[in-house]
Amino acid sequence: MIQKLKGTYDVYGSLSKKHDYVRKLFQAVCESYNYSYIETPFLERSELFHRGVGETTDIVTKETYDFVDRGGRNNTIRPEGTAGVARAIIENKLYNELPLKLWYYGSMYRYERPQKGRYRELRQIGIESYGSHNPIMDAEVISLGFNFLKELGLKDIYVKLNSIGGIETRNKYREALVNHFKDHIDGFCDDCKERLNKNPLRILDCKIDHDNELIENAPSILDFLNNEEKEYFDKIKYYLDSLEVDYEVDSSLVRGLDYYTETVFEYYSKSNEFGALGGGGRYDNLLKSLDGPDIPSVGLAFGFDRLVSEIENEEVNLNIDETIDCYILTISENENEFAFDLANKLRMCGFKIDLDLTGKSMKAKFKEADRYFAKQIMIIGDEEVKQKIVTMRDNLTKEETKVNVDNLVDYFDVNL
Ligand code: AMP
Repeated sequence: MIQKLKGTYDVYGSLSKKHDYVRKLFQAVCESYNYSYIETPFLERSELFHRGVGETTDIVTKETYDFVDRGGRNNTIRPEGTAGVARAIIENKLYNELPLKLWYYGSMYRYERPQKGRYRELRQIGIESYGSHNPIMDAEVISLGFNFLKELGLKDIYVKLNSIGGIETRNKYREALVNHFKDHIDGFCDDCKERLNKNPLRILDCKIDHDNELIENAPSILDFLNNEEKEYFDKIKYYLDSLEVDYEVDSSLVRGLDYYTETVFEYYSKSNEFGALGGGGRYDNLLKSLDGPDIPSVGLAFGFDRLVSEIENEEVNLNIDETIDCYILTISENENEFAFDLANKLRMCGFKIDLDLTGKSMKAKFKEADRYFAKQIMIIGDEEVKQKIVTMRDNLTKEETKVNVDNLVDYFDVNL
């Protein structure tokens, strides 16, 4: 038997209904903020992620699925969604019409060690907002994500928020961090030793050394922000307060990707079973770094798989309609064509209809109707076909009524 790859899973049955529900709710929330859907390829040139996500990030150094294709080109299966959307914006000149508000959904691939809440094929759902450097836009993006989680029915949700300043601020902070860590770096993991010179900010979110006291006592980026950055950050907090977003400032939050400037944030559940549920930030330099125009942007991505796990963890009762309107049973195969024709007509009128064509026993067919949570059962025998009158059984009250086939739509309108 051929088995699935490590870190991947199949989505079917009740899980697929949950996925469908979460995706549709996210779409509805995005549409209420006037975001439109974008889909970009799974496969991109490797260079996009090296330049877009960053050469020193864990994702690019250790986790991408890279391969040389039959034409000798270096390709990468996307590890995240933002870089591909940025490429599409530049290539299709979508920036000619700003502001640009886009949402996406899709699978991403990272060669990580699979564990609870961490997969190699992960789904992400996210938004990208291009065209404004305004704290209201940061607050809008953060609150969109927060409101979505609330609408999902998650209760223990809060946002971690930080500003990592612009490039100048970060350079000064980087220096301070190097001074802070350099004499004690022997006590850190091998990755952190390398990070010290390449990207010391990343030491702060090391998954191995996160309990080290030196990380707790490290200087805070917030003390390095210039007046403009401070004011910008204060305004975001002001708007988040007025939008009643539950957040806390966490100056150790730096996020794993290189393209962020100033605002960074992550969504957590208080139980913190699966790590961050999602995160995002501002990336004003991303388009320019990919040879595009200088256009500011802010966005977020949720780990879709983690959201679904959190829904299960909090035992949230999603409002999923698992019912069908009517299940059609035929007494013998002779009535199948008549039943098939009726089913089609009713489907065209917008009803959810199914019928059994497997030739099972009547008892098994009734069981099937229950498995589909059919609200109504239609029973068709040879008499029904002759008279064009079918037997309708309300599957809750078990009450039966004879209905002329021409009156079925009216019957459904009253009884569903
Ligand atoms: P990132 O693109 O790394 O900022 O991640 C955004 C969100 O995707 C995280 O907050 C997680 O919820 C989720 N995520 C990242 N990596 C994985 C993974 N390997 N498996 C499942 N979810 C992930």
